[in-house]
Amino acid sequence: MMAAFDAIVVGSGFAGSIMAERLASRLGKRVLVIEKRPHIAGNMYDYRDENGILVHRYGPHIFRTASERVLRYLDRFTGWHPYEHRVLAWVDEKLVPVPFNLTSLERLLPDRHEELGRLLVDTFGMDVKVPVSVLRRHEDERLRELGEFIFHHIYFNYTVKQWGDRPENLDFDTITARVPVHVSHDDRYFQEPHQALPSEGYTAMFERMLAHPLITVQLNEDACDLLSLDLERRQVLFHGEPFTGDVIYTGPLDELFGYCFGELPYRSLRFKLETHEMEYFQPTGTVNYPNTERFTRITEFKHMMREKPRKTTIMKEYPQEYDRFQPGKDVPYYPIPKDANAELYERYAALARGFDKLVILGRLAEYRYYDMNNIILHSLETFDRRFGGLE
Ligand code: UDP
Repeated sequence: MMAAFDAIVVGSGFAGSIMAERLASRLGKRVLVIEKRPHIAGNMYDYRDENGILVHRYGPHIFRTASERVLRYLDRFTGWHPYEHRVLAWVDEKLVPVPFNLTSLERLLPDRHEELGRLLVDTFGMDVKVPVSVLRRHEDERLRELGEFIFHHIYFNYTVKQWGDRPENLDFDTITARVPVHVSHDDRYFQEPHQALPSEGYTAMFERMLAHPLITVQLNEDACDLLSLDLERRQVLFHGEPFTGDVIYTGPLDELFGYCFGELPYRSLRFKLETHEMEYFQPTGTVNYPNTERFTRITEFKHMMREKPRKTTIMKEYPQEYDRFQPGKDVPYYPIPKDANAELYERYAALARGFDKLVILGRLAEYRYYDMNNIILHSLETFDRRFGGLE
């Protein structure tokens, strides 16, 4: 059994699947992929529900990239269905575009939108993204006031709900740099040149990535039951025996090291799916509820693939604490960006660096809030760096 594999990959999300695919197809290595869940693709997993609608089981995942390399790589495994995500937020009884833009300004501050819109354009230029914190700290008092207005209407309550903490206790600038104020009328959530969804879904794309004959996927298997670490000899043990091949680990790092420095905090989510007997439930793919409701947002999947069934499927996202001992609450979705957590993480990372053949990769293992386009590129580059050679 042990000699049968040259490499072990823990986890089959983007980080794990890309590494497995590269190791097999570029280096001819025999790879064992160990996956805890009953399916591949990690949080990218999607499936067709009883209404015939493709549902992202772990929340909306919208692909976009500015990287030709990322696009070329994925092209091998999927065709594309063009889709540009749009998000509205329910604020002051109105639906306004998010990220906050000139249209949002018009709708929420109809009496002042001309003056403030002009000020934004004169100060920053047109089609420019400005973090809300830059507005809140600006020397111009009117921009500071506008920054406060946007902070309180769009970000504050959403952030408290999503992260279970106040913005000042989090690395708020990093979190909200993802959704900066956009001085523009462009109401798309993303501006990258390539925006599309895999034409048959993410799961089908991952199936093709992992279909290489040198790759074996073992589902429903907790890697920490098969792998252990000999800290003194700095060796990974597989079934209790030293494993001399490469080990790519994409799960939580605290778990790999038996929580020896304590638990890394993660934020989790509960998803509630509903079927509605109507053509469309809402006007866009996602509607955010920053200030009302216990959920943060509703996603209606029918907008994404332009499916035509009579019914529609929506998903509500309820943020919650991650508790690894609670069955059904055991998905650690988001690392929580704040200094104390980064410090704790660094202690685990330093231990991991002592193992020559251990590669730590991905949102969980690196404790970083990666978007999928970033983790795809980062995984390809990590492969090049560790194992050499471009495609
Ligand atoms: N955010 C917010 N209001 C919004 C949308 C986002 O305050 O209407 C903040 C919030 O803190 C959130 C972060 O921006 O966690 C990142 O949002 P994004 O949509 O990128 O979150 P993801 O899809 O990764 O959950």
